[in-house]
Amino acid sequence: MPDAFEPTRAYARRMDAEDPLSAFRDRFLIPRRPDGSEVVYFAGNSLGLQPKTTRAYVEAELEDWAKYGVEGHFHARHPWMPYHEFLTEQTARLVGAKPVEVVVMNSLTVNLHLMMVSFYRPTPERHKIIIEGHAFPSDRYAVASQIRFHGYDPAEALIELHPRPGEATLRTEDIEAVLAREGSATALVMLGGVNYYTGQAFEMDRITRAARAQGCAVGFDLAHAAGNLALRLHEWGPDFAVWCSYKYLNAGPGSLAGCFVHERHARRFDLPRFAGWWGHDKATRFRMPDTFAPIPGAEGWQLSNPPILPLAALRASMDLFDEAGIGRLRARSERLTGFLAFLLERLGHDAVAILTPDDPRQRGCQLSIRVREGGRAVFDRLTAAGIVCDWREPDAIRAAPVPLYNTFEDVFRFAEVFADALEG
Ligand SMILES: *Cc1c(COP(=O)(O)O)cnc(C)c1O
Repeated sequence: MPDAFEPTRAYARRMDAEDPLSAFRDRFLIPRRPDGSEVVYFAGNSLGLQPKTTRAYVEAELEDWAKYGVEGHFHARHPWMPYHEFLTEQTARLVGAKPVEVVVMNSLTVNLHLMMVSFYRPTPERHKIIIEGHAFPSDRYAVASQIRFHGYDPAEALIELHPRPGEATLRTEDIEAVLAREGSATALVMLGGVNYYTGQAFEMDRITRAARAQGCAVGFDLAHAAGNLALRLHEWGPDFAVWCSYKYLNAGPGSLAGCFVHERHARRFDLPRFAGWWGHDKATRFRMPDTFAPIPGAEGWQLSNPPILPLAALRASMDLFDEAGIGRLRARSERLTGFLAFLLERLGHDAVAILTPDDPRQRGCQLSIRVREGGRAVFDRLTAAGIVCDWREPDAIRAAPVPLYNTFEDVFRFAEVFADALEG
């Protein structure tokens, strides 16, 4: 693949000119530097940029609220009563699920807890949870607190997966080996789809198969995978998945999260769950019955009537994803990130190592770049030059060229400034 690229700005511009998806950049508001020039925004893995249409989608709801008051639940252009349903088909397409398997609700860590209420059912013989080492802190806290909630000790019940000595990422065969050894004592396998620190995309199909063969429940946190990878959740078959919408899904800071519950659980009304009125059968919800009767499928896990303004922002973004198509975006993403890896490797600098796997199937758009000694100074120089990426202790710069709004020329510019920054 590397020889398919050329290390020139002219080449980058030609790639941009030839790809019809390049037009999507113009649908976003790109932050600017004090001198008015656009930044190179490689932080879509933290907070995605704002689509130009978001404002109108949100304003439409403000107008309908002004005009209709409570009647907006029925008379708004997009009535609020079923509002979350307007996102169902698009969400299902995005993550490779059936509509009955997905819902947009709450925020990410809340959904993770709700899912563990139903799918972490520990017994004395089988109560362990397997997570990746260096998991996102919120996931670790959530999982450890669930273990304690059930009266077990995370020191014994939490199994963390670590790379082999000298390696930065996990090998799938090593994950399978842990499952073969610990599977019968494990209640839940809960991994990120893409690790936030290393950028490694886990082989979710293989891991799900190995975990289910051992009788474990399987869940994925797709915070860094939704809108980044071409997911096939229904086919891969985890029990649940959760994700947020403010990273690659561009729905705005703190916006609502997604939740997937596999179809095989759609009518598992016997599963313990924390209930709320929005998860209750729509036909009788407003008769205010005393007994909870869940909606079949993921919607049955909803608690509250959802906030319409962030849902409107999410609709604006999901309409763009539908227009571009996640399959086409993913193909562009592999080339953008491949170009970045190619340019960084060409620098041939021995203090620089890419932690993220080489294999495009084991990464999304993010590259985590380790700079031995002085990494923080390199990062500060990138920032001063108008590159927005991030620094993660102890020594990684995370850079995420996002296929919806980043360009090959952005990638070229990043590599050029990075090379200068290394020189000090
Ligand atoms: C971003 C992220 C979170 C954030 O959780 P919130 O509940 O949305 O604040 C959690 N887990 C992972 C893996 C993340 O990447």
